[in-house]
Amino acid sequence: MILLCGPCSAESFEQLYSTAEILQPFSIDYFRAGLWKPRTRPNGFEGVKEVGLAWMKQIKKDFQMKIVTEVANPYMVEKCLENDFDAIWIGARTTQNPFIVEDIATALEGTDIHVMVKNPLNPDIKLWLGAIERLEKSGVKHIMAIHRGFSLSYNRYRQSPLWRIPLELKQLRNDIPIICDPSHIAGTTELVNEIANTAIATGFDGLMLETHVNPQLALTDAKQQLDKKQLKILIDSLPIVNKNEKSETKELTMLRNQIDDIDDEIIQLLSDRMGISKQIAYIKKSTNMSIFQIDRWKTLLDSILKNAKTYDLDNDFVKEIYEIIHQESIKQQNLIITKSER
Ligand code: PEP
Ligand code: MN
Repeated sequence: MILLCGPCSAESFEQLYSTAEILQPFSIDYFRAGLWKPRTRPNGFEGVKEVGLAWMKQIKKDFQMKIVTEVANPYMVEKCLENDFDAIWIGARTTQNPFIVEDIATALEGTDIHVMVKNPLNPDIKLWLGAIERLEKSGVKHIMAIHRGFSLSYNRYRQSPLWRIPLELKQLRNDIPIICDPSHIAGTTELVNEIANTAIATGFDGLMLETHVNPQLALTDAKQQLDKKQLKILIDSLPIVNKNEKSETKELTMLRNQIDDIDDEIIQLLSDRMGISKQIAYIKKSTNMSIFQIDRWKTLLDSILKNAKTYDLDNDFVKEIYEIIHQESIKQQNLIITKSER
């Protein structure tokens, strides 16, 4: 199993050094730290940038750990190459943009640094594959994919795992190792374990785990970085998977992951539907329309049942579900109307 650990961001030499010290017993494959930090809004901590290059180089020398950081343009690639980085990763926001990926790929021509490609923020497998292919066209030989979750509105994690996408990538490109980054998916340390376990049980090749000597003091992603004790608990809890064995449990986990994704989507859609239904309540109220419109309900149910038939779904099953949904909509609309009357 490939293990990449280290803080979200490099903050000071002391912080990097003491984090590397706590990581030493885990014989990790790569020490990670972000030098240039992509932030959603300006004026936050945007990384120590070039200053941290020498710190990382020192970690590599003193701890014999391979070092990796995020790059988002050819200048950052050049700086990493000059400072003996073993690998670089392309962040989610960069994978999103084929122009920038192309520039990075061009900057990598003729080098043999390893490159990790995080999935784009939106669940588009073509963008992820496309970034990998652009790098390959420039002659990059050692590529790994990193699954870090997707930005969806409804989600009980910080980012939605949408397991079916990395699993599809794995099927299409089984020559490329795929690593899971449970830290960015979970967003909080309590959920990192379950994501890491699912990933390993499903056959991922490794984990990228944000680890900090003192997570409470971290300047970025403080809630999701593991301390030494939490990292040990996580690693000890991982299932042992025999890669060569075609195991039914692995298959079962994969299928269950897909069910979990679909259930997340069903909940999101129900919530969206209820939201719209509530907006309708205000219009009904202002136009003095009655809540229950029998004609509308009949046409709606009719078209749903026709649709269900084309998908081979049982008529009574779908009818029952929709009766429940409709009843709940009416209940919610009633609540809004009676509340505003008071
Ligand atoms: C990170 O790994 O710290 C990071 C910023 O990753 P991502 O591109 O997945 O958000
Ligand atoms: Mn982070």
